[in-house]
Amino acid sequence: MRVRFAPSPTGALHIGGVRTALFNYLLARKHGGQFILRIEDTDQNRFVPGAENYITEALEWCGLTFDEGPEQGGDYAPYRQSERKPMYRQYAERLVAEGNAYYAFDTAEELEAFRTKDPNFIYNHSTRTLAANSLTLPPDEVTKRIAAGQHYVIRLKVPAEGKVVFNDLIRGEVSFDNSLIDDKVLLKSDGMPTYHLANIVDDHLMKITHVIRGEEWLSSTPHHVLLYRFLGWEDTMPAFSHLPLILKPNGNGKLSKRDGAKFNMPVFPLSWPHHEEENYEGERFTGFREAGFLPEAVINFLALLGWNPGTDQEIFSIEELTEAFSLEKINKSGARFDFEKAKWFNHQYIQQKSDAELTALIQPDLKARGITADTKFVEKFCSLMKSRINVLTEFATVGYYFFTEELNYDEANIQKKWNAEVAPKLQEVIRYIEKAEMADHQSMEANFKTFLAEAGYKPGEILPLMRLALAGTMQGPGVFEMVELLGRENVILRMNNAVQAFNKIIK
Ligand code: GLU
Repeated sequence: MRVRFAPSPTGALHIGGVRTALFNYLLARKHGGQFILRIEDTDQNRFVPGAENYITEALEWCGLTFDEGPEQGGDYAPYRQSERKPMYRQYAERLVAEGNAYYAFDTAEELEAFRTKDPNFIYNHSTRTLAANSLTLPPDEVTKRIAAGQHYVIRLKVPAEGKVVFNDLIRGEVSFDNSLIDDKVLLKSDGMPTYHLANIVDDHLMKITHVIRGEEWLSSTPHHVLLYRFLGWEDTMPAFSHLPLILKPNGNGKLSKRDGAKFNMPVFPLSWPHHEEENYEGERFTGFREAGFLPEAVINFLALLGWNPGTDQEIFSIEELTEAFSLEKINKSGARFDFEKAKWFNHQYIQQKSDAELTALIQPDLKARGITADTKFVEKFCSLMKSRINVLTEFATVGYYFFTEELNYDEANIQKKWNAEVAPKLQEVIRYIEKAEMADHQSMEANFKTFLAEAGYKPGEILPLMRLALAGTMQGPGVFEMVELLGRENVILRMNNAVQAFNKIIK
């Protein structure tokens, strides 16, 4: 088994592209085959600098490693189509010589005129008879035009009648009427192949056995099947699988790049810094990585977009996915991109990490926010916070109060809990803490309860205020877990600050 991921470097790789790469990867690993990266960069107008690096970095972050590719090399190098340019023409010429393709001389203006006359114009068996091409012009005229350097393209000559029928491993038998298929350009006037020609020539030369790609390529497949047939490669034609669409979170249509901004969620694996460019307006290029996701969680989430293991199991390591994966269990219908589910997966994977691992993962984010803290402190902080966290960045945003005494106080709760009667009791608590034994949180809590009972204070009037004093909020770890981590001095500082702040709030 040899499979390939064949992205075009036209911008940031959409998260759907990562799923395509993942499914190819899983299949190759499961069957001990090869997973190949091929960069399809023949459309120079759409080439975006940096996009190839982005693709490689994104897949590396996800842990999807290639056996062959531009960086790895391999027996079928080069793996960038622009570097293979001289290979393609011979196949296009062979198709012309054998009557399965033709030279077309139409200028951009002429094609525009066709479209003005008929907005639904496609270049096909009926319209090609009206245009300037090697099917309508006498052979010597064709030779003359080519010799004179007139621009031409080579187009596939789709038969006027009949059907293309092929088997899709996900969809079953698929058939297209030839009469509805257009005569795709195979070789452009600059000598570059189009996607269609380069894709099948390379799949053939690279001995690809399975093509697994997005549903949007299904309508290109009849052209590809015709090319395999015309080039005499039908015997070794790869098996096709077209993956179901990924749908918007509300299920209404295909997930698009612009949905990131619309639904306030990442739709790319990594952030893409080119958003200032004009044509990216309205798109939000935040990546899953920068949004605080773990690659294992993203992979697990993506695997279940369109594939289902046939059991209730949801959490899969990449090894378990490799084991369980099969094309037969991929659905035909679209899969809803449920961002809440992605966060749920991330939460699960955060719980599996040790405090030391989490510390290493969040330190860069803390630094970027100007927070410096001792490793031991951050480890303890992680252990207190992780059950409350969905994305890594929330450690710093939700748990900010562990790193600063400037708290955002929950005023509504302070209004409810703070009054002239309880104020002296909190002062008493401060005096208690000044002298209390600082131990583990369990024994501190037990001692504190005794103190409350002796003083005749109710835990329900004191503990919420302590919590508000330490964290500003009613959410968070246990009060004495916070006391243990913050230490006596800092706790007293926070409680004194709070008395002043609370008095201001209820005024
Ligand atoms: N270059 C195409 C893309 O950008 C490849 C499609 C295919 O896998 O054939 O997705």
